[in-house]
Amino acid sequence: MTTEYSDHLVIGMDVGGTGLKAAVIDRQGGVFIKEQRPTQRERGPEAVIASILDFAYDLAQRSRGPAGGGRVAAAGVAVPGLVDEETGVALTSVNLEWKNVPLRRLLEERLGVPAVIGHDVRTASIAEGLLGAARGSENYLFVTLGTGVGAAVVLGGSPYMGVHGAAGEFGHMVVQPGGPPCGCGRQGCIETLASASAVVRSYRAMTRAPADITTRDVAAQVIAGDAAAQRVWGEAIEALGIGIGNYVVLLDPERVVIGGGMADAGQMLFEPLITRLAKEVPFQPVPSLLPAALGNDAGYLGAALKAWLALGVSRSELNWREVV
Ligand SMILES: [Zn+2]
Repeated sequence: MTTEYSDHLVIGMDVGGTGLKAAVIDRQGGVFIKEQRPTQRERGPEAVIASILDFAYDLAQRSRGPAGGGRVAAAGVAVPGLVDEETGVALTSVNLEWKNVPLRRLLEERLGVPAVIGHDVRTASIAEGLLGAARGSENYLFVTLGTGVGAAVVLGGSPYMGVHGAAGEFGHMVVQPGGPPCGCGRQGCIETLASASAVVRSYRAMTRAPADITTRDVAAQVIAGDAAAQRVWGEAIEALGIGIGNYVVLLDPERVVIGGGMADAGQMLFEPLITRLAKEVPFQPVPSLLPAALGNDAGYLGAALKAWLALGVSRSELNWREVV
């Protein structure tokens, strides 16, 4: 282990639709500060960008050394939408109404240290790979089944970005031709059948269940023998089984890590999915299917890891044993 940066810190921040989550973390994974602020995106894109820069600057100021010197050596920020990680530009985010925001340059100007930005799910996949459910694996698929479906295709330890930063749109893979219409314009995308919101929406359309039910409630109804719940759940498992099966046929991964609201259903999701996947993969080895381990912490942890990697610290040195 080199002594370089041994007394330094980095900022890792995750920009979400409702909250900005951030932490200041040392090279051994020690968390110096951990904090959350509201995104308040209704204030408009400019105000959200200003809040991100203010938050990062504030964290850097509060992390100064005993002699008043700067200890923050870099910053990493994970953002939703389409991101060009090479140029550091957040290209588009429908949620935040962003278009071509040069976030890396803005952060570097404000903080006076190098910055990196990353796509939120790809960044979270780095944390799951070094610290979470994909630890020890370099070839895995990371999927989040929440309001939508996010994914990261991780090859050789790095999330694959594609030529335009748009790779990994697993949720828009068609698995049921002629199926439910998707916001993307296609029909029968995985997102329309297996996202947490799709499962709840389909179940409510069939049963008039209350608006505040979750995928866990639908899963409980499956166990209770409710026919509508069983049908919706079965369609979700089928969609995921076919989608993940296609991925396995193409890329032969070691693991598949699943997070988001659907993963909260635990064995109700994983057991039937493992059975289904075995049928969908005719001759390749079937990868391990695992629940994500880091939950909502994966974004800012991944952003901090990206910042350390950008400073030249090796992956093996970032194999943090404990993070809070
Ligand atoms: Zn779609």
